[in-house]
Amino acid sequence: MSLFDDAREVIAGGVNSPVRAFAGVGGEPVFFKRARGAWLEAEDGRRYIDYVGSWGPMILGHTHPAVVEAVTETTRQGMSFGAPCVLETRMAEKIRALMPSIERLRMVSSGTEATMSAIRLARGHTGRDTIIKFEGCYHGHSDSLLIKAGSGALTLGVPSSPGVPAALAEHTVTLDYNDTEALDAAFESLGERIACVIIEPIAGNMNMVPAEPGFLTRLRELCSRAGTVLIFDEVMTGFRVAKGGAQSLLGIEPDLTTLGKVIGGGMPAAAFGGKQTIMTSIAPDGPVYQAGTLSGNPVAMAAGLATLEHLDRPGFYESLDRLTGEFVSGLAELAEAAGIPLAVEHAGGMFGFVFTEDAPIRRFEQVAAADVERFRAFFHGMLDEGIYLAPSAYEAGFVSAAHGDDEIAKTLDAAKRVFAKLR
Ligand SMILES: *Cc1c(COP(=O)(O)O)cnc(C)c1O
Repeated sequence: MSLFDDAREVIAGGVNSPVRAFAGVGGEPVFFKRARGAWLEAEDGRRYIDYVGSWGPMILGHTHPAVVEAVTETTRQGMSFGAPCVLETRMAEKIRALMPSIERLRMVSSGTEATMSAIRLARGHTGRDTIIKFEGCYHGHSDSLLIKAGSGALTLGVPSSPGVPAALAEHTVTLDYNDTEALDAAFESLGERIACVIIEPIAGNMNMVPAEPGFLTRLRELCSRAGTVLIFDEVMTGFRVAKGGAQSLLGIEPDLTTLGKVIGGGMPAAAFGGKQTIMTSIAPDGPVYQAGTLSGNPVAMAAGLATLEHLDRPGFYESLDRLTGEFVSGLAELAEAAGIPLAVEHAGGMFGFVFTEDAPIRRFEQVAAADVERFRAFFHGMLDEGIYLAPSAYEAGFVSAAHGDDEIAKTLDAAKRVFAKLR
């Protein structure tokens, strides 16, 4: 019996979140028992260089001493009060200082809660029902957001999971990412019925696909004109691609932003926030209901705050960006030398690579058409070499501040051997 077999006896599918099950790459997931810096240690004692970083949160690397210290100290004082504590205020101040479009915010415990609440707020605030999202973006698993494009542009969406009522899909329009014409057409026909548009400004859930600057500028214009709330889902990109998130890199201010992953530093913390005029619609100030027993949990706040405080260090993002850039360009060079077409992308500590000749990747169809078999072979080759990549061709990867030239060199050496076998 493997550890995965044991898990499957009690946990549905053996995992508590589906992508962990290795269904996209085949084989059985690795069980980890320990992690430090850029390295993971499996139950069988094997060590891996980690490019998943718990899917984004671990920007300082694993078990960073300052974060562990903050969590330990805070835990001793009390793990949850269900009443206000000062750490929540400090955390909110820190987030607002780093991301000034957030005038007021509300803490929650997961990215899913953040996007779900932001959408309800946008609907409640505008008094409108229709929302627009984009194919290939992921915003968590709430009902309104598990809806994909129907057939043909501008048709209403269809549920992408059983259990999501078709009635909800009637209020969700799903458009192609970076398709300005489709966006114009949607606003032309639906205009002032659109409560909000939610988008990953740099998409990280269809590998890594940045929005084109002209596309986002147009989106901002259309939303402002129609009184539609523009929501940037920065659960992944917030404090990952730059100190001020993707919005600071791209120079576009959303009305609301959702955050998660990095802001918890490995603990369950997420947030949504933005314009004060919109945020006052949330209870208790306003009529839109939203709540959470463990929201703003002191231990999670301590981990997040200790993490965010490190991001202010001079050169933090410059060196993260340099290292991540060296990694992906090294990967691209090795692939080219091996005659394997590979498109790469990176920003700050986030990267993507897709086995395709069709570079650069700007549309969902391009990712969908890539060579998934080759990805699977590469993934398993790298895993055998002690390199832990995301077990799916559709996920972005992450480099942490604990990665150094040594880890990158080891990874590229491994990639060279694996590419040679892929040919
Ligand atoms: C991870 C993610 C979410 C969901 O966050 P959870 O904490 O897993 O619920 C939402 N949006 C984006 C862009 C994400 O990457």
